[in-house]
Amino acid sequence: MTDSDSGHLPATRDASTEGHRGHVRGMADASRPGELVVNRVLDRCGTLGPNLRAVIWVQGCPLRCPGCVAPETLPFAGGEVRGVAEVADWLTHLSEVEGVTLSGGEPFSQAQSLADLLDAVREQRPDFSAMAYTGFRHEALLRGTPGQRALLDRLDLLVDGPYVAARHGDLLWRGSSNQRVVVLTERYHHVMSLTDAGAGIEVSVGNDGHFSWAGVPAVPGFRAFVEEQLTQAGYVVGAREEAVAAQGEIRGTDERITEVQHRRGQCGPPTGGSAAPGPAAG
Ligand code: SF4
Repeated sequence: MTDSDSGHLPATRDASTEGHRGHVRGMADASRPGELVVNRVLDRCGTLGPNLRAVIWVQGCPLRCPGCVAPETLPFAGGEVRGVAEVADWLTHLSEVEGVTLSGGEPFSQAQSLADLLDAVREQRPDFSAMAYTGFRHEALLRGTPGQRALLDRLDLLVDGPYVAARHGDLLWRGSSNQRVVVLTERYHHVMSLTDAGAGIEVSVGNDGHFSWAGVPAVPGFRAFVEEQLTQAGYVVGAREEAVAAQGEIRGTDERITEVQHRRGQCGPPTGGSAAPGPAAG
């Protein structure tokens, strides 16, 4: 099946035809019935897809893109096991958001559970939209497992392909220029005409001082630099895996973060990190 004969719109950005055959290995769906293994969730985000969205970072990815910004999400061991029904209930009650973005980790390694999740949410909210990141190519997923094709069928947008550090750019919702925003339904057809520039980084600080960020860094080096600064400020980087609520969210910091981004380091997309105040915080 091809993009066109499946009724899908063609890739809208950088229609690279790289095959990435090496990455098709490991394209298994490790879904556990009724369960998701989650690294982190966020109930409101404006930088990972159109408008305001919830985000789920799943645990586990079979790929190892050099420079991946989220190495803590790669092992399949770890994360938090959560019931699909419980996560669906959480999403259903997030009145501010119009949909969810699935990131990771590799969402298509838990494809059937995520397809079931979207079905459960749409029983209550039929217009709830869905976007997913994947290290695989859209064309490979069209030949994937039944669960992977089921998830694909339920998505409005897909950002596909592995992160390639040498092609890092300031791009809309993605980190390297080989990656594509694939429009799968009419819902977000308008994104084809958006300016292809980064959506920025959103920083949140919880009432407990827990710091987290979400977005695709415009330049390499964002995560390494920020974590170094946080460590120097007394934060324990990576101390907490889950940022449930964006309480006490700090907005309007993009300018400062952009300055930070341009100073050094090595990191990749997508899409977030966290830290918590340390015992010796200054
Ligand atoms: S960039 Fe994405 S696909 Fe690549 S290793 Fe990291 S999580 Fe996996």
